[in-house]
Order: sequence, then structure tokens, then C-alpha cells
Amino acid sequence: MTATTDARQGEYVTYAPKGEKCAKCKQGFGPLERVWRLTVERQSGAPAFGPYQHYEKCR
Ligand SMILES: [Zn+2]
Repeated sequence: MTATTDARQGEYVTYAPKGEKCAKCKQGFGPLERVWRLTVERQSGAPAFGPYQHYEKCR
């Protein structure tokens, strides 16, 4: 009945760890630059964490 198998995508704002690169533009992040991190919540199993993206220019 309620067979919604679609993964839900969420996102939150954080700071990127050193060495991470933006998934969209492939540039690095500044030390105190805010970034989006995408998460994929699944109904069963642990949530999967996705890549980082620049907060403003890569929305
Ligand atoms: Zn970017």
C-alpha cells in the first residue's frame, strides 16, 4: 500500500573538512566556508551521506 521506496534527500549546512572539494565545481573550500552537505535518508539502513557543495555559488 504505502510502498514508497523513494529515498528522501535532505541537506544541511556545515563546514567542509579540509581537503574536501565541491561536487559541482570541483573547487576546494575555504577554512570557514559554509557548505551544503546532502544526505539521503533511507527507510532501512543508515543514512547515506553525499557530497559537499558551496553554500551560495553552487546551489
Ligand atoms: Zn562549488
